[in-house]
Amino acid sequence: MPNFIILVVEDEDAIREMLIVVLEQAGFTVQAASNADDAQHFLNDTLPDLILLDWMLPTISGVEFARRLRKEPIYQTLPIVMLTARGEEEDKIRGFGCGVDDYMTKPFSPRELVARLRAVLRRSSKHQWSPKITIGDLMLDTEQHRLTIAEQVVDVSPTEFRLMQFFMTHPDKVFNRTQLLDQVWGRSVYIEERTVDVHIRRLRKILEIHEREDLVQTVRGFGYRFSINQ
Ligand code: CA
Repeated sequence: MPNFIILVVEDEDAIREMLIVVLEQAGFTVQAASNADDAQHFLNDTLPDLILLDWMLPTISGVEFARRLRKEPIYQTLPIVMLTARGEEEDKIRGFGCGVDDYMTKPFSPRELVARLRAVLRRSSKHQWSPKITIGDLMLDTEQHRLTIAEQVVDVSPTEFRLMQFFMTHPDKVFNRTQLLDQVWGRSVYIEERTVDVHIRRLRKILEIHEREDLVQTVRGFGYRFSINQ
C-alpha cells in the first residue's frame, strides 16, 4: 500500500488522539489539526491524500471548511470524509451535499472507519493502488519490498525503503525534518530530528552506488526534496 497521508481535523483531543493511533496502526501517515485554520495551514505546505473532517469545529464548521475547499481547484478532487454525530447531522449531510465523499457517524468502530477510508482512497486514486511505483528508471515494489534502479536491485534497509516510498509518492515537494519524521516514522514514535539527516545520508550513500545520489536534494534552510529533475 502506498504511503497515504490523512489529515485529521477534530477539535476533541481524545477523539483526535484515538484517530491518530487507529489510522497509524492501519499504516496511514497521519497529520492532525484541531480547527480549520490549522488544517488550512497544513494544506498550504502539503496536499494530503484524504481529509477526515469533523462536522462540529470551533469558528469554522467542518461543513463550511469543506465548502471552501471545494471552491479551490486544487482541492476539488481531494477526498473528504466527514465525521458526524448521530441523527440530525447525518440527515443534513445527505441533504446539503457539501461535496464530501463519505461520512462516518460517531461512535464508529475503528475497523469500519479504516475500511471506509480505504474504499474512498481506492475510488479516488486507482493508479496509486498499484503495488509498484515507477518514476523514471526507479521502481519501488511495495508488496515485495524491493527497490530497483535501471532494473538493478538497490539494497536498502526498511527505514530507507519507507523513506524512498514516501519520496516517490510525493516527488518534487520539499519536506522539512519534522514533516519527514511525522510522515515516515509516524507521530507516535519519538525520534530526534537529526535521525532524519542520518537516514538521508545513508540513503544517499546507497543511491551513490547507482550514481543517483542527486535524487535526494537538500533545500537549504528547509529540508529535503526527492526529484528526478535537477
Ligand atoms: Ca467536534
